[in-house]
Amino acid sequence: MTGIREPLTGVDWDLVRRWDEEYYAHVFVTPEEYQHRAVARTDGDHLELADGTRLLDFTSGLLCVNAGQRNERIASAIAEALERYGFVWEGYATDYRARAAKLIVEDLLGPDDWAGRIRFTSSGSEAVELALLVAKLATGRPNVISRDFAYHGWTHGALSLMGLPGSRGILASPSEAQDIRRPPGIPMPGVHFAPAPYCSRCPIGHTYPACKRGGETLACIEATEHVIRTVGADSIAAVVAEPIFGVGMFHPPAEYWGQLREITRRHGILLIADEVMTGFGRTGRWFAYQHHVDAAPDLMTIGKGMVSAALPAGGLVIGREVARMMDSYRWETVSTFSGHPVVMAAVVANIEWMIEERIPERAEELGRHLGTGLGGLAERHPSVSDVQGAGMLWAVELVRPDGSGGRFVEADRHAIPAGSGFSPSLFVAEECAKRGVALATAPPNTLRIGPSLATIPEVLDSGIQVLDAALTELDGRI
Ligand code: PLP
Repeated sequence: MTGIREPLTGVDWDLVRRWDEEYYAHVFVTPEEYQHRAVARTDGDHLELADGTRLLDFTSGLLCVNAGQRNERIASAIAEALERYGFVWEGYATDYRARAAKLIVEDLLGPDDWAGRIRFTSSGSEAVELALLVAKLATGRPNVISRDFAYHGWTHGALSLMGLPGSRGILASPSEAQDIRRPPGIPMPGVHFAPAPYCSRCPIGHTYPACKRGGETLACIEATEHVIRTVGADSIAAVVAEPIFGVGMFHPPAEYWGQLREITRRHGILLIADEVMTGFGRTGRWFAYQHHVDAAPDLMTIGKGMVSAALPAGGLVIGREVARMMDSYRWETVSTFSGHPVVMAAVVANIEWMIEERIPERAEELGRHLGTGLGGLAERHPSVSDVQGAGMLWAVELVRPDGSGGRFVEADRHAIPAGSGFSPSLFVAEECAKRGVALATAPPNTLRIGPSLATIPEVLDSGIQVLDAALTELDGRI
């Protein structure tokens, strides 16, 4: 999988480096820490760097390239659309937008019998903003409930729902002094947090399954209901929740989503499923809420996999009841890029390809293979404490390899990245990169594994082999 190909000619990569280092505002690093790595090409599961080095991308970008890089169907649909369309604003219809809406509302969600309309956005964060707006318009209520460990994006409203303080749009100094600049006004007023269903380290001190009252209701659901009662159900527009925590990186217990649906229904509160990462086959279903029976949301945000990240896209699926209410009003809002015809052409091609290829089933099958491989790593490496996943969304938890089960960084995902402390996930990612595999991590203690859903078992095996070697390096760091 590693290999060097002739570098791309016709690009002055030294100039690229200079412009990139001088003018681009990079994330996660200071300009001094920044390590320039230019990608010259992408294909399938691979990135090709400017010097010709090929990397297997084991996290499909940011868990978004579901159909693989430059999927032929999507690429030719984009080229074809450009022959007819430049730009059309959302006051007009296009064939592509109508078809994309029909595919999602009728073909993918029709069997669950809840979706009414869809509006498109340009990103997942924008979809979350739109969901907050619609929930507040529909209910006339100011409050929303999010959860510890939640990730919903990087715009103001979405950042306000963030249950990971270290990811709340802060500026974190690299010095050891914990010099942090927090954006004032975030979280915005009206956001309340319920505990996360994080059973391996329950934030409210319970143990699963003993936490279930009367053998049924989870303690975290009871705690969520307590927050609802305390804030006042009639003041809460919505509970916003990822069915599987894609950046917090863990899977709630099986009963959780159904119980969350039940309490939101009982209290007359909208349930917003944030499926930006988990949608479009990623977890082995079209949408992750479908792992549960009779647990469809009222609103659903989508992004990433809806276009396999070939172009920027997001959207909000609006349940029939809310859509019906909104139908008797004029919605006085517009977004320049909403329903862009070229993006819509890519969305249509992506979804049609996924339907033909039975991508959710394929992701489930590939996921079983991946899970078996990762499970083997957990058995062989003392630095791996836990492996969790569904479909092609997996988390590998790293601990000190001394048998204590202790973490390298105790505060974990709530940690604010400061100083030069050791991060096992970044260490493993670097060791993988040396061996030709690119990994996105959830620092400091977790690896995120999620190749494309178009990959093959042999590619998964080659990635696991590299991970095996990288973990052996970590095992040596007692
Ligand atoms: N919601 C969830 C669950 C996500 O995982 C993400 C991105 O990772 C977002 C929202 C934000 O999407 P975007 O980065 O496209 O704005």
